[in-house]
Amino acid sequence: MVVILKENPEEKQLQNLMNWLSAQGLEINVCKGQHQTILGLIGDTAGVDIELIKALDIVDEVKRVQEPYKNANRKFHPDDTVVEVGGVKIGGGNFQLIAGPCSVESEEQVCGIAEAVKAAGAGLLRGGAFKPRTSPYAFQGLRGDGITLLLEARERTGLPIVTEIMDISQLPLFEEVDVIQVGARNMQNFELLKALGHVEKPILLKRGLANTLQELLMSAEYIMAGGNSNVILCERGIRTFETATRNTLDLSAVPVLKSRSHLPVIVDPSHGTGHRELVAPMALAAAAAGADGLIIEVHNDPAHALCDGPQSLTPEQFANLAARIKAVRAAALGGEL
Ligand code: PEP
Ligand code: MN
Repeated sequence: MVVILKENPEEKQLQNLMNWLSAQGLEINVCKGQHQTILGLIGDTAGVDIELIKALDIVDEVKRVQEPYKNANRKFHPDDTVVEVGGVKIGGGNFQLIAGPCSVESEEQVCGIAEAVKAAGAGLLRGGAFKPRTSPYAFQGLRGDGITLLLEARERTGLPIVTEIMDISQLPLFEEVDVIQVGARNMQNFELLKALGHVEKPILLKRGLANTLQELLMSAEYIMAGGNSNVILCERGIRTFETATRNTLDLSAVPVLKSRSHLPVIVDPSHGTGHRELVAPMALAAAAAGADGLIIEVHNDPAHALCDGPQSLTPEQFANLAARIKAVRAAALGGEL
């Protein structure tokens, strides 16, 4: 349930209302927007007398929220959430390119790519240290050493780093990481999500291979229920019967998620397509659809990449794409940029 207050509510009356709601065992999420304040109520509101609340001087409107996600719901927080990390903003009109290799392979590799993507306009560096691989015989990532190399690349370029966590036990190694990624395979690792609710860093939450958008929002809710509201949602393609692409990139996820939630939404056209030549068209389409950012795999030598070479762009291809994305955004947003 949400209680929408009139402008400048009288403080004493507001306090009385909040005390009364708390006394009924409800958790209150206060959202002060530009024009209105909203009290988002979490808990069993079945017995709450709506008419009684509506009759109060300070109350404009009261609405029931049917969706099971509350903190992530736009009804609880009408303004876009802007996630800020290392001087970079995502959401609320702030668009970011996150680029870098699928896997961190060496200092030379990750630092070289970091410098190249920064020069092309990337705002954040991605790179996998812990890799979820289908085969146990495939390269599993440099693990802790990979994180050390990402920190080195950040030191050199100033780009905040994004890297994936696969298990709660790895959390101590992520102390210096700027954005923690939860990959598709862990989207419903609820214990991990709960632990990340107590972390103060932004979490990049990828949609599971076979999950609905409501399930993605419920996973965001797990993180937010723990007190961490810095969640970035990521559409990265889902499993369908189609085999021409690695996954089917569901671009309708962008407007759907943005209408249902206030969280920033980004798109991963690399994992979404699996093919280098498909990355640019889908990246441009995602930008036109209103995504708040893109996460794109870039490798200096894709043919010899230890992971996901076929879907990685070269730094030159990335630079070319970055310029086109700018043009598409400007056109799609009616020249607002
Ligand atoms: C990745 O970003 O490197 C990755 C493994 O992505 P996903 O979880 O979307 O497969
Ligand atoms: Mn990859």
